[in-house]
Amino acid sequence: MSKVTWQEVAAGVFVRRHPELELNCGLVVGDRRALVVDTRSTMARGEELAAAVREVTHLEPVVVNTHAHYDHCFGNAAFRDSQIYAHAGAADDLRATAEHQREQVMAHLLLTGRPELAEQTQQTEIVVPFYLIDSDTEIDLGGRTVHLLYGGRAHTDHDLAVAVPDAGVVFWGDLVEQGADPAMEDAFPLEWAQTLGSLMDRPQVHGAQIAVPGHGEVVDADFVLTQAEMLERLARTLEEARRRGVRDLDALAAECRGLGLQEATVRDAAMRVLEAAS
Ligand SMILES: [Zn+2]
Repeated sequence: MSKVTWQEVAAGVFVRRHPELELNCGLVVGDRRALVVDTRSTMARGEELAAAVREVTHLEPVVVNTHAHYDHCFGNAAFRDSQIYAHAGAADDLRATAEHQREQVMAHLLLTGRPELAEQTQQTEIVVPFYLIDSDTEIDLGGRTVHLLYGGRAHTDHDLAVAVPDAGVVFWGDLVEQGADPAMEDAFPLEWAQTLGSLMDRPQVHGAQIAVPGHGEVVDADFVLTQAEMLERLARTLEEARRRGVRDLDALAAECRGLGLQEATVRDAAMRVLEAAS
């Protein structure tokens, strides 16, 4: 396994990709403070990330959780002395689902022969973000401003994108995914494309060429546009089938074949649409 290191994608803007789920964390360094984007999946992994941050800068870190899925925020315990930002919906969601997420992750880790990591997961204290926002918010890092942007429901009901306009970089969280399909388990498939479109139209995002997905390789604005177009086709297909009265999960999923998505992805998407309609 190659060593995990920071990649400087623009001046003072770093991405650290981790072997677990190809998860990307971000670091934006200002004159007075630094911003850490997402904290990994356990306290131990968060601590390792915090140590890596200190190798780059000794400035006080501020943290943002892009959303409340465990792989992006269970490491918060390692940043408990920092201001931790998130959408208010992320705090609600984490309070409601953290123990269920923990159980599911631990069961999966035990099933795949990783008892130490299951133990780490069990021992991780959940730290709920406490600087809560529900609309676009600026954070002044000294000499540069980052923008936490909320465009509506998409991968969850509380995804934030993090824009660094002076560097032309956007951290998309799981709003954008490289190397795997967009994850639909908690998603709003009929709204996701619209949300992406609304974010791409923001002046802080418009023209940004470097796009950091929640998982996978750093991509560009065209990649985000292509993903938005695919999500738009998915939404249109689901909506049109629903209008024709398709209510059965298998039938609805079958309508979405040929869009270039995995079977599991279209089933999750179809399930979410049926749940919302019932
Ligand atoms: Zn996620």
